[in-house]
Amino acid sequence: MARVGIALLIGLVVLAGVVIVRALDGPPNLPAEEPPLSIALDAEAAAERFAGGLRIRTISNGRDTGIPLDEAAFVAFHDYLDVSYPRVHASLGRERVSGYSLLYTWAGSDPDLDPLLLLGHMDVVPVEPGTEPQWPEPPYAGNIRDGIVWGRGAIDNKANVFGLMEATELLLARGFEPRRTVILAFGHDEELGGGDGAVAMAALLASRGVHPVLVVDEGGGVAEGLFPGIDTAVAAIGVAEKGAVNLELVVQSDGGHSSVPPAETAVGVLAKAIVRLQTSPFAAGLDGPMREMFETVGPSMNFGYRAVAANLWLFSPLVERALLASPRTAAMIRTTAAPTIFQAGVKSNILPTVARAVVNFRIHPRDRIESVVEHVRRAIDDPRVAVEVGGGREPSSVSPTDSEGYRLLARTIRQTQPDAVVTPFLIFAGTDARHYRRLTSNVYGFQPVRLGPETLQLAHGIGEHLSVENLVGATRFFAQLIWNASL
Ligand SMILES: [Zn+2]
Repeated sequence: MARVGIALLIGLVVLAGVVIVRALDGPPNLPAEEPPLSIALDAEAAAERFAGGLRIRTISNGRDTGIPLDEAAFVAFHDYLDVSYPRVHASLGRERVSGYSLLYTWAGSDPDLDPLLLLGHMDVVPVEPGTEPQWPEPPYAGNIRDGIVWGRGAIDNKANVFGLMEATELLLARGFEPRRTVILAFGHDEELGGGDGAVAMAALLASRGVHPVLVVDEGGGVAEGLFPGIDTAVAAIGVAEKGAVNLELVVQSDGGHSSVPPAETAVGVLAKAIVRLQTSPFAAGLDGPMREMFETVGPSMNFGYRAVAANLWLFSPLVERALLASPRTAAMIRTTAAPTIFQAGVKSNILPTVARAVVNFRIHPRDRIESVVEHVRRAIDDPRVAVEVGGGREPSSVSPTDSEGYRLLARTIRQTQPDAVVTPFLIFAGTDARHYRRLTSNVYGFQPVRLGPETLQLAHGIGEHLSVENLVGATRFFAQLIWNASL
C-alpha cells in the first residue's frame, strides 16, 4: 500500500512539475519588426471626410421590409469618394459592379505577384425605429465631438472603406508605386448577405484568373479587455466563419374541438421536440482555430490561466467546461441551436391542425448542414415531427496560419499594433469574405480598429461611433499592409 502511495505521490509531483515548467514559458521572443512607415497625416481632415461619409444613408433594409435600395444614396456615396480622394480617382481603375458595388484596381509593376485584395462594405444596417433619441449624437449627422466620430456605419463598415481610401491617397501622394497589384472591393449589400455585390465581384475576379496572395475583410480586430486572464491587447484574425441554417419543425394533426383533446396536441408534440433539442446540445471541443488561439495567447496570460493554457493536454476538459458555462464562449466551441419562431393555433377552443417552429443553427467548422439535420432528427426522435431544411450556408474552410498571406498580415499587425498578441480565431457571424474563398484559401477577418467590451456592441447597436485615433490607426495599418505587400 505504502509503495502505491509513494508512486502516486511521485507521479503527482512530476505532473505538477511538468505543468509548472510548461507554464513558465513566457511569450515567444519574436524578432523585432521594422518600425512602421512614418506618414504625415492630417487626422482632423481625415475625420471630416469620414464624417461626411457617415451622413450618406447607404442603408440595407431587410428584403422582407419591402423597402427598395436607395439608389441615389449609393450614387451619392460613390461621388463623395471620387471628390474626397482625387488621387485615387485619377490613378486607380474603378468599376461599378452590380450597379452599386465598387471595385478599384491599383495595377502593380510586377504582374507575376499575386494581388492583394482588401474588402469593405458601404451599406449599413438601419437604425431601429424609436431608438434615435438614445443616440448621444444623431445617427446620420456625422458629428465629431471630443475626438469621436458618431454615426451608423462608423465601425461596420465605413471605417474600412475610409481607412483604405485614406491609405491609398496617402501612398499616392508620396509617389508610391506598388509592385504588387492592390484591389479594393467595396460591397453594397453585405448586410443582406452580399448576394449581389460580393458574389458578382468575386465572380468577375475569378473570370480574370485572380488568385490573391491575401484577402482581408472585417470580422476580427484588436480586442482590449475582452478575453479573461489577459491584460494585453489581442489582435484576433478570423480564419474561419461558422455556417448557419434554419430548420423548420412541423407537426400536423387532425384538429377538432378543444373539449375532446387527444393526449398530446400539435403544440404539445412540438414543444416536446424543442425541449429534447435543447437538452441534447451539439458536441463541443477545444480544437481547430480556438485551440490554436489558446495556444498562441496562453503564454501572454496571467499565471493561473497560463498554467492551464500551456497544459491543454491535461486541462482541455476543464477549459471546455468553463467555456460552455457562458453562451458567448460556448458558441466558440460548438454548433449552437436557437429556437426563434414558434407558431400554432388561431382560437382558444380549436385544436391547431399544424404547429411549426423555426430553429436557427450556427454551425461549427467541424459540423455540416447534413450532420446538423441528422443530430436534430436523432435528438427529437419523433416521427410526428417533420424536419424541413430552410436556407443555409456551410461553415467556411479554415484559412492556413502558415501561409505567405497570413505571415504578411500578422507581421503588419505586429508592426502597427506592437503591444498586441496576434492570434487566429473563429468568426461567429457571416461576412462578405466567404464569397471570395473561391479565389484563394488565404481569406482573413481583421478590421484594424481597437475595441473594448463597451464598444464591441456598437456595430448594429445604439450609439455606433469610431474614435479619430482608430480611424488614423486603420489608415496607417492599411498603408503599411499595401507597402509591405510590395517589398
Ligand atoms: Zn459588416
